[in-house]
Amino acid sequence: MMNNLSIKKKLLIYNILIQIIILGVFSFSLYKTLEISSLDKIKSTLKIVLLDVVDDIIDHKDDLTKDIFHEEIEYKFKPLFIRLLQVDEKVTKINGTKFPDIFKYDINKLHSLKKDIIYFERNDTYVLSKMKITLDEKTYVVEVATDYRVLNSTFENLFYILIFIVPIILIFSIIGGYFLIHKSFLPIENILVSLKDISAKDLSKRLEINNNKKDEIDLLRQEINNLLSRLDNSFEKISQFSSDASHELKTPLTIIRGEIEIALRKDRDKDDYKKTLSTCLDEILSIQETVNDLLFLAKNEFSTENIDTVIYLDEIAIDSKKELENFAKTKDIQLILEINEPHEIKGEAKLLKIALKNIIKNAIIFSHDKSKVLIKNYILNDKIIIEVEDFGIGIDKNNLKMIFEKFYRVDKSRNKHSGGTGLGLSISEKIISLHNGKIEVESTENKGTKFKLLFHR
Ligand code: ADP
Repeated sequence: MMNNLSIKKKLLIYNILIQIIILGVFSFSLYKTLEISSLDKIKSTLKIVLLDVVDDIIDHKDDLTKDIFHEEIEYKFKPLFIRLLQVDEKVTKINGTKFPDIFKYDINKLHSLKKDIIYFERNDTYVLSKMKITLDEKTYVVEVATDYRVLNSTFENLFYILIFIVPIILIFSIIGGYFLIHKSFLPIENILVSLKDISAKDLSKRLEINNNKKDEIDLLRQEINNLLSRLDNSFEKISQFSSDASHELKTPLTIIRGEIEIALRKDRDKDDYKKTLSTCLDEILSIQETVNDLLFLAKNEFSTENIDTVIYLDEIAIDSKKELENFAKTKDIQLILEINEPHEIKGEAKLLKIALKNIIKNAIIFSHDKSKVLIKNYILNDKIIIEVEDFGIGIDKNNLKMIFEKFYRVDKSRNKHSGGTGLGLSISEKIISLHNGKIEVESTENKGTKFKLLFHR
């Protein structure tokens, strides 16, 4: 049932329950403490009266049946019951007032009492104190009692005070609690109202903050703002990515459609049809490449089953070089490998080869014909590094920051000719970061570019 209530209502109910328990325990303890201390007081008064009575008995030992207790009976302490018992073979009351029937004589018990020691007894609502004394070789027991109900009026008063005060305290504490809860939840309610205003379409709005580092709600607002910024960024990237992706696919499709439409306008000879088909095939291959790259990037996780396998980076470099040798030959470019010693890491060889080959392929594509590409593998500052250096067209500073973005190409028209999808470096970066490594790049326009893949040892 509580689950359906708002947090505010739940807190209020908990607050009321806790207050009731606290006030209940407090009232009960107060009542009990007072009861115990009152009983102690009764006992000490009874003790004083008892000692007075014993004094009177000693003073009047010649005739103990006389009216010797009038002083005590006139005490303000009422009701007071006194009796003097002579104890030998039988028990005889020889003086005293009317005594509560509840305290019967028990001769054996009276005999067993120790001399000159004060005993207390409680029975029903009565408290009794007694002492055994010996006078002229006769044994007496003096008993003084009072009715405990004498305190009832005091307790009744306390009870009424508590009955009256406890609800008042409770009402005030509920009002106080409600005020506190309302006050604490107000900023959260304001945040909720503001958040309802921020839709996925307009993530640019932010919550107002006071920059107070000690205010938890303000910290929450700041965190929500940070989250919104990240979401805004991601949405921006996703929408940019979708429009880039559709553009990349639309262009070759438009070319294919144009080529086919022109070819169909009139009858053409065999060579014209061959030319059209070959252009279409090129464009289809480009679509296929883009789709493959997109699928590769879209996979949330690459097949990382072998990521814990020990692999040798120098072998990856040798294999990548070997596989790209023919491609380099088309531009008469020399691939030079410089490896000092084997370097092992834990990883997935197939993926690392894709990453490295993308970088070497770019180095070949953006090199001038007949130049060279250096591939080195070495250790520096406890990092294993694979370096790919070319002496080609280079990348200017502004573009250097963007080359890892998906579909980003420095010069789209020239790159189109070279056949890239603009996804190669994004793929390489994803693979390297999967191996806890990172890519660094240095480049000077018209001089060349150096890519470094850094891995932990
Ligand atoms: P692509 O598949 O088009 O090569 P990449 O993501 O691999 O896409 O590269 C992005 C862009 O970065 C390239 O289009 C190119 O403009 C630039 N680039 C990458 N490597 C080099 C390089 N070695 N020299 C000059 N420019 C480069």
